[in-house]
Amino acid sequence: MTSSRTPDTPRTVAIIGGGAVGVATASFLLRDGHNVVLIEPGGIGEGASFGNAGVLAPSSVVPMSMPGTLMKVPFYLLDPLGPLSIRWSYLPKLAPWLMRFVRAGTQAGVRAQARALRPLLDDSYSAWLPLVRHAGNEALIRRDGFLAVYRSDADFASDALGYQLRRDNGIAFEVMRGATLWAFEPAISRDYTVGVLFPQAGNTINPNRLVRSVADAFLRDGGRVVAARASGFAHTGGVLSGIETDAGLIPASAAVVACGAHSRPLAERLGDDVPLDTERGYHVLIADPETRPLRPILDASAKFVSTPMETGLRMAGTVEFAGLDAPPDWRRAEHLMTLGRRLFPGLAPTYGEGRVSRWMGFRPSMPDSLPVIGRSSACADVVYAFGHGHVGLASAARTGMAVADLIARRPPAFDLAPFAPTRF
Ligand SMILES: Cc1cc2nc3c(=O)[nH]c(=O)nc-3n(C[C@H](O)[C@H](O)[C@H](O)COP(=O)(O)OP(=O)(O)OC[C@H]3O[C@@H](n4cnc5c(N)ncnc54)[C@H](O)[C@@H]3O)c2cc1C
Repeated sequence: MTSSRTPDTPRTVAIIGGGAVGVATASFLLRDGHNVVLIEPGGIGEGASFGNAGVLAPSSVVPMSMPGTLMKVPFYLLDPLGPLSIRWSYLPKLAPWLMRFVRAGTQAGVRAQARALRPLLDDSYSAWLPLVRHAGNEALIRRDGFLAVYRSDADFASDALGYQLRRDNGIAFEVMRGATLWAFEPAISRDYTVGVLFPQAGNTINPNRLVRSVADAFLRDGGRVVAARASGFAHTGGVLSGIETDAGLIPASAAVVACGAHSRPLAERLGDDVPLDTERGYHVLIADPETRPLRPILDASAKFVSTPMETGLRMAGTVEFAGLDAPPDWRRAEHLMTLGRRLFPGLAPTYGEGRVSRWMGFRPSMPDSLPVIGRSSACADVVYAFGHGHVGLASAARTGMAVADLIARRPPAFDLAPFAPTRF
């Protein structure tokens, strides 16, 4: 890839974490002429970036905590299979985060959050395009739109504020009803009577391959990947000299923390106590489905997305608060399959061995639905880029551009103040 701009002083930049955010950021920094090393202990793109729904949608500006969230918390605790559930055993640890989450959902709060997310999610398809094209895999992303479906007008009306936030932020959508909707998406059940199409939205047909192919291009262009787990920073007087890892010290004069849900301890090492937790999500993937939608579909009542992937039909979503250590509750994945059959009556009532795979991943989530993008307090050479919650795939490329701007000391293309690590 040709350099976009050669910085006055190329630096050795260490990117910690090889998910969508880390890989996109590494690619933009390499483009800027830096020496870039990506530190990742596992497989590239195998964290949350592996099993998501693949949606690249500017319409995702609507935050998770909306007015009225407080009244819903008891239901989150009582229904282990609900769209959002909290494990009782995790409640004491989650409580401070949960209070912030509830407080973030005021009318003024959600308007400010949607406004902040807008430029980060702006035309997410086009933001990824140069990276994917350069990797020679343009077919991995498509722009077929994103459809939200409802079982009744009352359900649709309950999301009115979300549509107002989208309207306020210039996001186009088109409402369809009954026969028009069923002709547009023939695979869905006739029990779904309202649909909202976001025509600007894109999607990937394989999020893991998307991240891996951009990482392969990064390697071809001279970037390096080191298999190691970062544990801290070597810095003196605010000047970074390297990253401490289980494979020894990796010299670096700048660094980006992009470890997704695992970023909090590293920020703490630099004196920043960021309220990062995880919203665990699940997917089931039917390798050879009898039917499939033409584009990603959000079942807006059940809060899951079904996406036609190159590997099959994926049903992904829901939120479970149980931390990073508790084992998966696979009943939630099974429940996604039940919901999938409700949305697509053409799916078989049972599947034999080997046709369905399931997955659980850790969304890196901040209580105000905004990621952390900004410099660390103790060492300005370290930039944070984590906490992207439900929109980390869609916003990874624009995050990478913003981080490259920070490291080059160029003014970023949009205001990063709402994403400040010190905002809490
Ligand atoms: C079910 C589900 C559906 C979703 N659907 C969508 C969607 O449709 N669209 C969308 O935009 N987003 C979606 N998301 C959210 C999206 O997947 C995440 O926001 C995004 O993947 C986060 O990317 P990341 O690079 O920050 O983290 P990750 O992909 O988790 O990558 C972090 C990496 O850091 C590494 N790491 C951890 N600790 C260390 C360390 N100490 N040193 C070095 N490396 C370390 C990990 O091994 C990992 O590879 C979904 C998430 C889920 C769970």
